[in-house]
Amino acid sequence: MAGPIVADGAVVLHDKTIAAVGPFRELEAEFAGAAVEDHDGCVLMPGLINAHIHLELSNLAHLSQGNPAESFTDWLTEMLSEREALGVTGPHVEEAALDVLQVQHDSGVLALADIGNTGVARKLVGVFPGLLFPFLEYLGLTRGSLVPALKKLGKADDHIACTAHAPYSTHPELIRALKKRADQLGFLFPIHVAEPVSENSMLTSGTGEMADFLRKRGFYEDTFSWAGIDIEGSVQYLHSLGVLDEKTLCVHAIHVSESEITLLKESGAKICLCPGSNRFLQVGTAPVAAYLRQGILPALGTDSAASNPEVSMWREMQLLAEDHPEIDPYEILRMATAGGAAALGIEAEYGTLDPGRSSHFLAVPVASDLQKEQEVCAALVHRGSSTKPQWVSG
Ligand SMILES: [Zn+2]
Repeated sequence: MAGPIVADGAVVLHDKTIAAVGPFRELEAEFAGAAVEDHDGCVLMPGLINAHIHLELSNLAHLSQGNPAESFTDWLTEMLSEREALGVTGPHVEEAALDVLQVQHDSGVLALADIGNTGVARKLVGVFPGLLFPFLEYLGLTRGSLVPALKKLGKADDHIACTAHAPYSTHPELIRALKKRADQLGFLFPIHVAEPVSENSMLTSGTGEMADFLRKRGFYEDTFSWAGIDIEGSVQYLHSLGVLDEKTLCVHAIHVSESEITLLKESGAKICLCPGSNRFLQVGTAPVAAYLRQGILPALGTDSAASNPEVSMWREMQLLAEDHPEIDPYEILRMATAGGAAALGIEAEYGTLDPGRSSHFLAVPVASDLQKEQEVCAALVHRGSSTKPQWVSG
């Protein structure tokens, strides 16, 4: 994922790291006497990085099996009421989360960034053979909810990474406090950004579907007019709050203008795209080509089973390729590997097969008649959730 594909290549493993990568014939001579494991008919590639999931919503998979809700806020309403009816925590939630996590591992996912309001994912950290980064999510838009939220945050254990839900659901002072804490403790700061188009109209003019939804629930109190900010959209809003930097992960980032993409690039902020969830919720498609044009390699995430009929990183690649046929499949593979590793800050060890990086990676079977680099990449990207990789460990 850092250079051209090597035909009939080899990866030399030593002491849990990659020692060398290159053509088999050359490495065979250089490392004479090394034990050889043959993965005939397979592509050797880095493990996948799922940069956005909510494991604690796994028991709500039935919400994404039927027809999608009429609107984003209808889905939110349905999800919240179903969650309350079935119980936010408990064995049924934990078992469903564990099942999804197991499938993630079996399908070649090496690392995940999980967002939750409970401790469900934290309990699974020791169970998952890869890397699971759980984030405890805060939200609350009203002034009344701000003081208790800040108090709760002040008492949070330093080893727990805390984050904000979204601009539409989280008071600006709470977003700032969460980002400040994340910086002080060295944590990543993931936040949903510009997922429904109505977040933009709410932030810029206090109108639209989201503003109406929150007013109806008693959560909207013109928070944004008193903030006195003249903004174009969600990204500019977060920039004005001073929370965009290289440790901020903007999830979804669909309704983002060209000048906001420049802001993201300048700030070094990371992007995570979730094509499967976006398609199910019909919230639009992200400006992927514009991100790549400005030199941003996004990460990919599945989001939760409650908004995605299949929680599969392979399917995310397939859907992204369908939505954006102009994008080179190799770039899509890089998003799911190198892009994800950079987004989670683990690129020194993961995301590419390079000397010095982890010796834990994938062997993915592909049809033996594929010759050209382009054909191999396209085959990997378009096969979706039927892909059956095997783990390789040195
Ligand atoms: Zn999400």
